[in-house]
Amino acid sequence: MKKRNRYKTEEGLRFECVSGCTKCCAIPGFIFVHEKEIPGMADFFGMETDEFMKKYIKKYFGDVHRLNCPDDDPCMFLSEKGCSIYPVRPIQCRSFPFWPENISNVDNWENLKKLCPGIGRGRLFTVDEITDIAAEVSFGPFLC
Ligand code: SF4
Ligand code: SF4
Repeated sequence: MKKRNRYKTEEGLRFECVSGCTKCCAIPGFIFVHEKEIPGMADFFGMETDEFMKKYIKKYFGDVHRLNCPDDDPCMFLSEKGCSIYPVRPIQCRSFPFWPENISNVDNWENLKKLCPGIGRGRLFTVDEITDIAAEVSFGPFLC
């Protein structure tokens, strides 16, 4: 059956992060960080880039790294009040849920509702906005 490609329609997609929700941060999994993001993150902690990388970053592939979280734990920057590095959170986090794999067809987007209560509510993101967000996160593991 031919898949409908919602990403290419003109209607856009609704999303609004739900206040107090931290479901996506609590799921164990890799949080990728592009090399260009690291100096800003280090600054946030008042650290040199090398020092920050030693403490918080693991090499992944090429210019893509990941946060050095234990594999079975939620993100190490998740606190009781939410993300403790919110102003410098990785592009992976800022761009969720508009990752290329999530917006590539209706089924993926609809399935994401099981995880994220913000899908389908709130403001309508236009296709242009979604395209820009997806382009920002289109590196390394997110290419599809
Ligand atoms: S799961 Fe969705 S609503 Fe909850 S914190 Fe993540 S993006 Fe926001
Ligand atoms: S860095 Fe912040 S936004 Fe990203 S997964 Fe960790 S707690 Fe969530």
